[in-house]
Amino acid sequence: MFERDRISAAGTVIHYEVHRSKRRKKTLQITVDGQTVRVAVPWKIKTREAREFVRKHAAWIIKSLSHLAPPERRRTRPESDSVRVEGTTIKYEVIRSRRLKRTFRFSVERGAVWVEVPWDAYPEAIRSAVRIRAPMIISQLSQYLPKSRRKVTERDSVRVAGTTIEYEVHRSSRRKKSVQIRVERGVVLVVVPSVAKSGVIRRAVRDRAEWILNKLSQAPPEGIQKRFVNGESLPYLGEDVRIVVRFADVPSPEIRLDDGRFRVAVPPNLRGKRRLEAMRQAFIEWYRERALDQVTECVDRWWPKLGRGGRSRVLIRNQRRRWGSCASDGTIRINWRVIMLEPSLIEYIVVHELAHLSVRNHSPDFKKLMASVLPDFRDREKRLGQTEGILPL
Ligand SMILES: [Zn+2]
Repeated sequence: MFERDRISAAGTVIHYEVHRSKRRKKTLQITVDGQTVRVAVPWKIKTREAREFVRKHAAWIIKSLSHLAPPERRRTRPESDSVRVEGTTIKYEVIRSRRLKRTFRFSVERGAVWVEVPWDAYPEAIRSAVRIRAPMIISQLSQYLPKSRRKVTERDSVRVAGTTIEYEVHRSSRRKKSVQIRVERGVVLVVVPSVAKSGVIRRAVRDRAEWILNKLSQAPPEGIQKRFVNGESLPYLGEDVRIVVRFADVPSPEIRLDDGRFRVAVPPNLRGKRRLEAMRQAFIEWYRERALDQVTECVDRWWPKLGRGGRSRVLIRNQRRRWGSCASDGTIRINWRVIMLEPSLIEYIVVHELAHLSVRNHSPDFKKLMASVLPDFRDREKRLGQTEGILPL
């Protein structure tokens, strides 16, 4: 007999069997056979130790599994992503490479940004690396623009009703007359025809001041701007959980949820930007693990009712714009940020994706199915819509 266990690593769930042996004295050994991962361990080892061992070798396991997986599961297609830095969206293609160990390589060629990364790099790690190199990337990209479109960020502000509204002006040669105002992640962007006069722009901002201020009050601070200090809070399962920070002799920030507080142990030598980024990564990691458990539990609970075919693979992903998706092979991808929502909304998201196993689109049939299993689904859908764009990180 053996035990089954699983861990999440690099956005993938690794299921494995733990085989205990009385003959085995100390060493642990992993074998990958087809899609089966076996871990041979000494008889008395703790489950946690086996987990740590698997986690340490996760990269190798995933590599061995994907090597044998059917072709459509191999990561051959380029992976693209984007980050927004100071009003500019940087789109990039990720090339996963087995040669690179830790470093990321950036190149800008003919207006496209390529990032070569170690093959198991987390999407978040890539995003933050792109953010850090944003000034270099933007300046290299601008060489591919015609001179007239090379962007120097133009900033201005107006004072309305005792408040200063700061904004960025983006001049566009395609725009003929109208002025467009957007608020994105707390930044006010004003897109105008390339020859617009600043007086016209200021008037447009003033005219829409009420709408802008309203938008700004809803916008969350950019995730990276969370300071992760005492008294701040982050959402977890729909509750705001206070952060309590203390210094400790730890290699990197460690998070514990205890007595309704996030208790974070932080190495004292970590400061400034490095501290912010390390804290952010630690929280994302923590959230991802909880998301996997919560979503898996929910899929297990709903599978008897909505399951079709083989048990769906569940992947936890970092997707800015969507909560989840259901692929034609039954794989369900869920955004780790769902773990910030109240459980009934997580359930709605999982049920929605599972319902896609039977009905692929959002047709009346789909809605009928949803209503039959989750009578208040419209109400949950509406509440989910209200959380759009207000989650931190
Ligand atoms: Zn859908």
